[in-house]
Amino acid sequence: MPNRRPKESPLPVDAAARRAIAPVVCYPVATLPGLPDAVIAGARSGLILRDSVTIPPRQARCFRARAGQVIRIRSVEGPQVGDLNLWHAHDLSERFFSGKTRALHGTHVTTGDRLWSSLPHLRPMASVVADSLDWYGIDDFGGAVHDVIGTRCDPYTHCLLSDGGQYHQCCHSNLTRALAAETGLSLSDAERHIHDVLNVFMCTGFTRDTGQYFMKASPVRPGDHLDILAEIDLVGALSACPGGDCGSEHSSDSAPCFPLLVEVFDCDLTRSWAPAPINGYDRSHGA
Ligand SMILES: [Zn+2]
Repeated sequence: MPNRRPKESPLPVDAAARRAIAPVVCYPVATLPGLPDAVIAGARSGLILRDSVTIPPRQARCFRARAGQVIRIRSVEGPQVGDLNLWHAHDLSERFFSGKTRALHGTHVTTGDRLWSSLPHLRPMASVVADSLDWYGIDDFGGAVHDVIGTRCDPYTHCLLSDGGQYHQCCHSNLTRALAAETGLSLSDAERHIHDVLNVFMCTGFTRDTGQYFMKASPVRPGDHLDILAEIDLVGALSACPGGDCGSEHSSDSAPCFPLLVEVFDCDLTRSWAPAPINGYDRSHGA
């Protein structure tokens, strides 16, 4: 493995038997509130465009959607991935929880998967209701689309890995500037709200031999879209990653980059949609 020390510990006699134990899925999701087919159908019906925001390349912009509206993230002009943050529109402390979404649904999300909010709220803040890339599945490298395993490209990691390099168009910085502009928060206050993303259209996985996070050129093409039902009132921010289709590198200006389009629609569900209550745990923590 790269940059790792040689193994030092002796192989136990029962190593093969221990490795052969079958895995158990961490969270049996049979009791997880699923997304009913009727909700998916309702979110696809009666669409009326209410707002649209173009995300310029290597920039981010905010958008707002009311509970029951549909957010469509669309590829335009060329292959491009987007880093998405979501917050409760009236309480920025309730935000997208990439890690728990991954633990519940898997490393990549598609139609029918929910996007969960942070503790202590832990409720569905949004759900994927359409995905034009759902044909992709898992490729021979273990890659798949729309991951919740990456974090977001950020200038601190770039500085760390490039001997002090300063780059200002990382998704982390783009999202920070966008949220500051939307809310009036200072840059440093806005930055505290930036969190691990849903990597829209990004094709990623872990290498089988070394377990390293990899990316490869996204299969997204203009016209592809990911549709997300807002389950609570949302403010979102989307960054058109400086990595473009993320086929070569990010955190630089070398990759071809394209805009992304965010459209917000009313649908058949919008008028009657009732958000889920916040999580029912009593928060006494055994004290
Ligand atoms: Zn990025």
